[in-house]
Amino acid sequence: MGNGIGIPAGDAERATRRDEAVRAAVEQGLLGAGSPIVGLLDVTGIRESAAALRAAFEAVVAPGTPVLHAFAVKATPLVPVLRLLVEEGIGAEVASPGELALARAAGLRPEMTVLDSPAKTPAELREALALGIAVNADNPQELDRIDGLMRSATSRSPLGIRVNPQVGGGSIEATSTATATSKFGVALRDEGAREWVVRAYQDRPWLTRLHAHTGSQGIPLSLMAQGVADTYALAEEINRRVGRRQIDTLDIGGGLPVNFASDATTPTYAQYARLLSEAVPGLFDGRYGLVTEFGRSLLAKHGTVVARVEYAKSAGGRPVAITHAGVQVATRTVYAPGSWPLRIAAYDGKGRPKEGPAVVQDVAGPACFSGDLLAAGCTLPLLEQGDFAAALDTGAYYFAHHYAYNSLARPGIYGFAADPAGGIAFATVREPQSLDEIVAESGGAHAASLTSLPAPVTRDDERRWDLGGQTA
Ligand SMILES: *Cc1c(COP(=O)(O)O)cnc(C)c1O
Repeated sequence: MGNGIGIPAGDAERATRRDEAVRAAVEQGLLGAGSPIVGLLDVTGIRESAAALRAAFEAVVAPGTPVLHAFAVKATPLVPVLRLLVEEGIGAEVASPGELALARAAGLRPEMTVLDSPAKTPAELREALALGIAVNADNPQELDRIDGLMRSATSRSPLGIRVNPQVGGGSIEATSTATATSKFGVALRDEGAREWVVRAYQDRPWLTRLHAHTGSQGIPLSLMAQGVADTYALAEEINRRVGRRQIDTLDIGGGLPVNFASDATTPTYAQYARLLSEAVPGLFDGRYGLVTEFGRSLLAKHGTVVARVEYAKSAGGRPVAITHAGVQVATRTVYAPGSWPLRIAAYDGKGRPKEGPAVVQDVAGPACFSGDLLAAGCTLPLLEQGDFAAALDTGAYYFAHHYAYNSLARPGIYGFAADPAGGIAFATVREPQSLDEIVAESGGAHAASLTSLPAPVTRDDERRWDLGGQTA
């Protein structure tokens, strides 16, 4: 795979590393008849993307501007990944108690953590403020709760409000957060909303941040830039009307789209940072600290799901490879294939890229419904029994987002990197789920709970009851 015309050298190297990792996974027994599906993470690639993100913003901000890149944990909620990113200078954006727990388990310091969910409970808010984690309030009711907490205790937490600039959606409705009716943030163009936001800052000197996340995959860059521009303009207005630089940090969210059509990384962080510096000239002049929240663009291209072809068959004249990767690891692709198409690469039973004439075929998963297809009608060398099919660019929102259909086990996930001897070294990121764990999380400890509830009165019982009534 890879090395195609027009693919930049770094991207071609990543494709080569992927091929080497698949082969090594087979040779080292991580992948085979007994473990027919794994997730692989390219540690070198993740480090490179983190470095590219840092460099892209360093190139456009005034010297000395504080910049926190907070990885959106929801994209790849795996503790070792978060720890790797910390080592690369990347923080964490969390949106649930579970994600915060993962960030803390990875050793994230509070100053490197941002909490953003739309449904924060009082307990979550209290914990975040006690820890000193940055919080962006989603709505007026949440701000009321924060008011109460701020009256009863002091906090080091930087606090802000999330706004929805309502600049519009992209090609995928489910990931468009800046539509008129999006559930996120304060809908800025609604009647009276802008004035409410300005007053909220005037009344609360401790509100020092402003946040927007204009969308994820499917949003054109120009629309993302518009969302950031509108947010910047609001911060300028608030600071002017308050009469001081009360807002000192802008959180511009994440959402850089990923190219799922080839190995090319496009758009790049450098392109986006340059676009922002042109579209919003004041943003990077040093008056505002910055927070970013990229998720998919940091991890997607560094993950691969590799699954064994258990059977190869033909139906209605079309070859169908039945693999072990389907809806459980590629939920969005299976249920919304038009929005989330995946590239598939074919490897032979020894993990070598498969040669041979390209054939139109379906690559199916193991789940018991007919729509469980990783790819329908894709063109690649014919997959045969014992081969491997790899779903590419699945490092974010795929194998870490297990869907328990058919009680299919969560696959093991392994990071890989070249070792000094010229081989490939693997490290366990997550063990494969065991059958005992599946039983346990499916109520195994409560097997008799339902049958021990009072049984309903049956008709026979009723008759007996009636007879009993007559004789009484
Ligand atoms: C999902 C999300 C992100 C990350 O989006 P990506 O498309 O993965 O970069 C960032 N911020 C918020 C608030 C989000 O909900």
